[in-house]
Amino acid sequence: MSDLMQIYHKLFTHYGPRDWWPAESPFEVAVGAILTQNTNWSNVEKAIVNLKAAAVLSSPAICALERGRLEELIRPSGFFRQKAERLQLFTNHLRDHYAHDLQGLLQRSLNTARAELLALKGVGPETADSILLYAGERPSFVVDAYTGRLFGRLGLLSGSENYMQIRALFMTGLPTEVPLYNEYHALIVAHCKEFCRKKPRCTGCPLTAICPYNLHQ
Ligand code: SF4
Repeated sequence: MSDLMQIYHKLFTHYGPRDWWPAESPFEVAVGAILTQNTNWSNVEKAIVNLKAAAVLSSPAICALERGRLEELIRPSGFFRQKAERLQLFTNHLRDHYAHDLQGLLQRSLNTARAELLALKGVGPETADSILLYAGERPSFVVDAYTGRLFGRLGLLSGSENYMQIRALFMTGLPTEVPLYNEYHALIVAHCKEFCRKKPRCTGCPLTAICPYNLHQ
């Protein structure tokens, strides 16, 4: 079994299925992916609750919303002016090219859809890959700061790799399976919150037996 799969199985055995991403629709996932930039998930949830309560959690509704009202609704997510602009650029794009149908974008070839998302202001690789994987069920591995930290400590990354190099480690080293990509990213996040924090809590960590960082402490 590859190192990546061995790590996956240990994490999955310890944490079980993560059921990530919590959302009622692909569009809600995409909105959450934009709102979660530079904030924690509990703040995103408050903003999503506000959007639902105002019955505006749809592409046409966000597109038509007065900017100040949108800012007010998503204020709990932080950077609300910037994020309101990004949400409306995203929904304007869906309106102009896909008649507000997100699936139209998500079902293009993976590289085309990814490039299209990345061309939108404020959509970086992590946001684009989150939308592709969790909203579109496309095999695009999501990398975040947790991924770099954990796999650096596990000795699979040197620390000098960029986003695409880290993504390639997973996309070439794992079977191309959406449920696996989905679960793996969520397990990495769970593990880095629970054990592999900035200051790691190695005692009791399910990866202690195979982690060089722990063995050298
Ligand atoms: S043993 Fe420590 S450094 Fe290694 S993965 Fe676990 S918490 Fe992180």
